[in-house]
Parts: sequence; C-alpha cells; structure tokens
Amino acid sequence: EISLEIINQNFILNLPSEIQNILSQIKAVSKLLNEKVYLVGGIVRDLILNLPNEDIDIVVENDANNFAKNLSEFLPTAKIRIHDQFKTATIFLENGLSIDIATLRSEYYEYPTALPIVTQGTIKDDLFRRDFTINALAIDISHNNFGKLLDFFKGYNDIKNKNIKIIHNISFIDDPTRIIRACRFASRYNFTIENETHDLILDAIEMGILERLSWNRLKNEFQYILEDKNPSKGILLLNKYNLLKLFHDNIILDKSLLKKLNLANKFKNIFAIKLEYWIVFLLVLTSQLNSKELEIIFLKFGFSKNFINKHKFGIEKRKILLEELNSKNKNSEIYSLLKNIPEEVLILLILESTRENKVKIKSYLFNLKGKVAIIKGRDLLELGLESGPHLKEYIEKSFLIQLDQINPSKDSILKELNLIC
Ligand code: ATP
Repeated sequence: EISLEIINQNFILNLPSEIQNILSQIKAVSKLLNEKVYLVGGIVRDLILNLPNEDIDIVVENDANNFAKNLSEFLPTAKIRIHDQFKTATIFLENGLSIDIATLRSEYYEYPTALPIVTQGTIKDDLFRRDFTINALAIDISHNNFGKLLDFFKGYNDIKNKNIKIIHNISFIDDPTRIIRACRFASRYNFTIENETHDLILDAIEMGILERLSWNRLKNEFQYILEDKNPSKGILLLNKYNLLKLFHDNIILDKSLLKKLNLANKFKNIFAIKLEYWIVFLLVLTSQLNSKELEIIFLKFGFSKNFINKHKFGIEKRKILLEELNSKNKNSEIYSLLKNIPEEVLILLILESTRENKVKIKSYLFNLKGKVAIIKGRDLLELGLESGPHLKEYIEKSFLIQLDQINPSKDSILKELNLIC
C-alpha cells in the first residue's frame, strides 16, 4: 500500500532567489492554465540534501508544450525548444538556466531492457517509474498547493538515512542501467545501497541482464560515473559487483590501480579546471590494457582518430618517457620532451612516476606550457632574417633559451642566439 506523505516544510525557500523567481512565474502560469505542476528529479533530492543543483525539471498534468509556450511569454528573453517526438520542451533563459518541461507519464516495459511504453499518468505514476526513492520526490508548485513536498515512496527518509533503494522489485529487470546508476549515486553522496536493493542487483546480474544492454547505454552510464564527484569510489562499487568486466575483461582492480585511482581523485581539483577530467579516470582505469585493447575502448567511446593517435602515442611511450625525464633537468629539455603529450596522459604519468618526475611534469603543466614567447617572428625579421623554415627554427630556439634563462628579456635571448652582441 502506497501512502502519500506530505512533509510540511517549505524547501523552496532554500533555493537561490533566481530559481525561486522562476518558480513564481511557473505558479502564475499554472493558475492561468489551471494546470497542475511539480518540480521533480535531482533538484528536489539535492534541495533536501542542501546541495546546489540548478537543473529545473518540471512535469505538468496535461500539456507540456502548451505550458512551455505560455511560460516563455512570462519570461521575455527566454528561448523555447519543443521536442515534439517526446512531448517535452526546454526553455533556455538568458542567465544560463534552463527549464525542462514534460507531461506526467506512466511507463511500463514489455520485456527487460526494452524502451518503455509511455502513457499518460498521475504524479504518483510518474514518480513510480523513476529509479530510486531518493529521486522520486516531487514538490508541488501548482498555484493552489505551492511548496508541498510529495513523498509516495519514503524517499525523504531514505535521503536522511543515506539509502539507495529501488521503488519496486523488478526495477533492475526493467532497466539494468539503474544498477550502474545505483553505484553512481552511492559514491556521489556516500550513501549505502540498501540490503534488499543490493540483493536485487545480485539477482539481476546473475540473470545476465546487463549483457543485453546496448553498449551505448552502458557507455553513457560509465561515463557519468567517471564524470561524477567521486569516480574512484564508483569504480570500486562497480568492481564489487564484478561489473568492470563489462568495460573490459582485462581490467583488474589491484592495489596499484586502486592507488592510482585514489591519487587521480586527489588531484582532481588541481587539474579539473583545465581539461575534461573524466578522461584521466578513463586512462587510469584502462592503464593495464595493451595498445590494441585501448584503441578499441577509445573507438567505443567515439573519440576522433586524431585524439586516439595522440593519446595512444603518449600512453605507449610512457615508460620510456619517464626514463628519459629522469635525466632531464633543464626547463627546455623537459618542455621538448613533453610538449606533444596530451595533458590527460601527462596526469597519468604523474600518477605513475617518482617524486622528482612528478615535480618536473607539474612544472611543465603549470609553468612552462603556458609561457608566452618573448621573441616573435617580426623581431627576427627586423634583424634581417628571412622568412621560411629557418626563421621557424630560430623562433623555437629562442623560446627554449627563454625557458632556461632566469630573467629572460629580448636582448638576453638574442644575445644567446648570437644575433646581437
Ligand atoms: P544528476 O544530478 O546526475 O543530474 P539526476 O537525478 O538529475 O542526477 P538524471 O540522469 O538527470 O539524474 O535524471 C533525472 C531524473 O530522471 C532522475 O532523478 C530520475 O528520477 C529519473 N531517471 C533518470 N534515469 C532513469 C532511469 N534509468 N530509470 C528511472 N528513472 C530515471
């Protein structure tokens, strides 16, 4: 028996004011159209957890597209995109926020791993089709019920008790990607996969249900784990369920790999600003694979030929690179050795190298790589050099000299090049 629990606390007041303003407009449109509207999904869960989340996901009772059209008139600078096929719409606002609007729906699965059959439904149906109780809360934002938290499946308690729990027993059979999602949410929030849910995961795995999933769906969920807050924990959980083999048979989560993953987590804040850090985790996770196996993974993730060649080169050569780096002490030597290696590979190198080499690679990434050349082509032309490959060589040489000088200036570099005295 499912009973509705309404928690009398106005969570909306904890949202940033710009989101509260949007919700007020939504409320006004709800009144105008006499539509019921609910805030759903991750934003509700994170609101209760007191964590920031700006994905405004709403569902309306009757007609999402009509609601979106009316709402966009209340938000003058908004751009609207209607997805006719799915009867959903997105409104993009000038401040970078967006609002996803769907119509309440009920879903059922004709057979495991199929895409669901969708019909109209109630708010309870719409929440029932979701993955976990913590993701199945809604806040009523209709004009006559604004701010009420609707909790049909005790999701509020599960958030408070840090539990990942499915809503019904065949949830993982309907959609096995939820197994990977469970690992993601558990690692992100440091929650526990509740006993019964854990047993159902084991049952579903034993049935071989995950093998029936398309690579595309698996890939997306794997990538989300690698992009999430705590990938090393997520990977550990996947390993606990023996699911890394879906990624590749030859990945063994031994001590050394675990150490690298944890280090990669530790370095995340330092490096994440500069690059797509999930690729670092992908490289660490696949660091035991040979070149051919790695190429297959890269292809399965859809990377370009150029990306694959550059990354494969650095990864294959990394042992030799690290050996060579041992004997390089001048900035110019370090720069020349590392300049063609992609940054993600360099971070993998940091995770695998001695303390001295770590310092050298970091110095390349944070200092040498970003240096602006003092000597430009036109400086050399002014001195009478002619354009062509020769000039290019001089430009490169002068940059390397610049890296090794303590207080480099135009004159000091040109002197060392013997172009002035
Ligand atoms: P995040 O913070 O990672 O964006 P989220 O909860 O918003 O988390 P999404 O993948 O964006 O996650 O999904 C939005 C909502 O849609 C979820 O909260 C959940 O209710 C529902 N959902 C997404 N994927 C599934 C699924 N495979 N099965 C059931 N419900 C799902």
